[in-house]
Amino acid sequence: MAQYTTVNGSVALITIQNPPVNALRAAVREGLFNAIQKASSDPLVRSVVLSGQNGTFCGGADIKEFGNVSSMSGPLLVEVFALMETSMKPVVAAIEGFALGGGLELALACHYRIGHSKARVGLPEVNLGLFPGRQVIAGEALKLGLLDRVTDHNTVDTALAFAKSVEGKPLDNRRLGNRPCPPLENMDAFFEEAMKRVRSRARGASAPVVCVQAVRGAATLPFHKGMELEKVLLGTLFNSGQAQASQYCFFAERAGARWSMPSGARWDTCRALSISTAAVIGLGTMGRGITVALARAGLSVVAVETQEHQLAEAQRVVSHMLKGGGQVSYSSDLQAAAEVDLVVEAVFEDMALKEKLFKLLSSICKPGTLLATNTSTLDIDRLASCTRDPQLVVGMHFFAPAHMMRLLEVVYGPRSSPEAVATAMQLGKRMGKVSVAVGNCPGFVGNRMLKPYLEQAYFLLEEGATPELVDAALEEFGFPMGVFRMTDLSGLDVGWRIRKEEGLTGPDVPAGQPTRSRHGHRYSPLGDLMCERGRYGQKSGRGWYLYDKPGGRVARSDPWLRNFLEEYRVRNALVARPIHRQEVLERCLYAIINEGFRILDDGIAASPQNIDAIYVFGYGWPKHRGGPMFYAGQVGLARVLEGLERYHLAHPDVPHLEPSSLLRRLVASGSPPIHKWNQMVKGHRSQL
Ligand code: NAD
Repeated sequence: MAQYTTVNGSVALITIQNPPVNALRAAVREGLFNAIQKASSDPLVRSVVLSGQNGTFCGGADIKEFGNVSSMSGPLLVEVFALMETSMKPVVAAIEGFALGGGLELALACHYRIGHSKARVGLPEVNLGLFPGRQVIAGEALKLGLLDRVTDHNTVDTALAFAKSVEGKPLDNRRLGNRPCPPLENMDAFFEEAMKRVRSRARGASAPVVCVQAVRGAATLPFHKGMELEKVLLGTLFNSGQAQASQYCFFAERAGARWSMPSGARWDTCRALSISTAAVIGLGTMGRGITVALARAGLSVVAVETQEHQLAEAQRVVSHMLKGGGQVSYSSDLQAAAEVDLVVEAVFEDMALKEKLFKLLSSICKPGTLLATNTSTLDIDRLASCTRDPQLVVGMHFFAPAHMMRLLEVVYGPRSSPEAVATAMQLGKRMGKVSVAVGNCPGFVGNRMLKPYLEQAYFLLEEGATPELVDAALEEFGFPMGVFRMTDLSGLDVGWRIRKEEGLTGPDVPAGQPTRSRHGHRYSPLGDLMCERGRYGQKSGRGWYLYDKPGGRVARSDPWLRNFLEEYRVRNALVARPIHRQEVLERCLYAIINEGFRILDDGIAASPQNIDAIYVFGYGWPKHRGGPMFYAGQVGLARVLEGLERYHLAHPDVPHLEPSSLLRRLVASGSPPIHKWNQMVKGHRSQL
């Protein structure tokens, strides 16, 4: 785990060997401890160089060991650091690749640090619910004083020569623990300001806030007191539940790559088709972002749009985003897609239009072209049935803005071939997306779960809440935007069109239908009424909030809306009641969670981790809460069930509040941990 050799007569070279990232698991810590001791006691050794195998210094602690008692075996990291720092022989870190988290701490315990110019260093544990912050590249690390020297040559050789040159030199001022923190004027005011800023950006995450407390301790207390404080703070983070949630997200982000389909097809048994050229059809909001994402992934893209002004505008916007890079050509003729390996369709959300287009594409494109649709809700299989090769049709559901949002839902229909799914998943990876394979149903996973969430938000307004109250509760929970600010941003007309298509509003609704009921279930027409009054959200300058101008971003409360809601309640004989934050959270979040359980039970998502990755990377669910399904486990399944039962009793005409059968079964079987939920899913086949 820590190879020990002697080089140039007097330099001990210690190389960490724990692929792939040389994580500091118990055996590595033990190896390092013994190697340092050996170097200290060998009279021939006068200096030490510490490096990592295969061009990587160290990726930090092994997070698989977090919360695992066996990680307590062997020396603690701080004991290894202390041994290195107090060594009487200079210890030089040779940093190649990266030194992250505990890996950077290890380097900081050395007396000197030499980094390769391409190396990255940082303490990214804040993403795991622990402190502290961002990664920097070697040049910046040198300026910050994190590194002593940067080299373009062989880092280990440079470090070996350097170690030789400092043999016998005094080390006291090289030990970080001895170095005073430079004094700062107005230290208190500085930290208070920093705390204020971090708190407002952290949106309920404790790690960044605790990080400021630790830095303050480091800047103001003697070294050992600062270390003690850090230990206490770290303990509170480890026990906060947020660290577990963030670490769970770390694995959920990666779990999507090991996809499977109900047919038994899996990521490790299916070959992806080779894709080097693509066509994007429809260059509106989504098509432009998709073109950029594909071009950045190295594909040669032809972008097709029928409306002349849209084509010209798209060309301008896409070229600007690609800054001259990427291979993109433009056309108004669908024939341009004849020879491509992949088509991504992003025209209006209109089934008849998409059906026509798929039929046409099927006759134009060469055999073997993968046909993907970016539809948000429509039936993939119906589109597949319009084509010659239905097995080559999948959904590739991007999120706006498509070149930036991490999530890609890859939707397979009953006839999509495993190769088609493998191809879309691999393409997602090439684009740097978190890709999750999901089954075909209205709204797939993400938007299907969003529906009951929006519904509850509207119902809460009817019952007495305001958009401000609902949004504040959700933002305090950790969402970047509450539900009303979010729908103002994406446009209220989007849902309105879908509801019109579904016959829930507009001219197709039969005369005499009650205003607040459809098919015997409770319905809120509030969103429709807003759109009928031209209130589409940011794009029209007014929606649930008021904006300075169409396209404005700063939301202000609108007195008009207050009156509108009051009049609406009077008209519908509704009496406003005070609504507590707790009720907002429970009704909105439990409605999402409940649909998540149904999705699992229906086999639309292969695991709760997949659902959580979708919500964290596509819908702004806060990472420190782990995703809706993880959060349900943290709250306690019995408590979620009890909440849903209570709300369903109060609102029996809302089917989304009726607890899902899977949730009931899980609670009845003693609420097993999340990784065992799949065993209770309908039709689950034992892996044994
Ligand atoms: P949009 O209205 O901004 O753009 C659609 C474009 O398609 C328009 O420029 C239109 O001229 C063009 N078009 C229409 N018919 C065409 C044809 N036959 N050939 C070529 N171009 C044609 O729509 P959008 O928001 O980009 O949505 C596109 C698709 O993506 C929809 O299916 C939508 O449901 C889905 N989607 C949208 C979002 C979002 O946030 N906007 C997110 C995910 C998925």
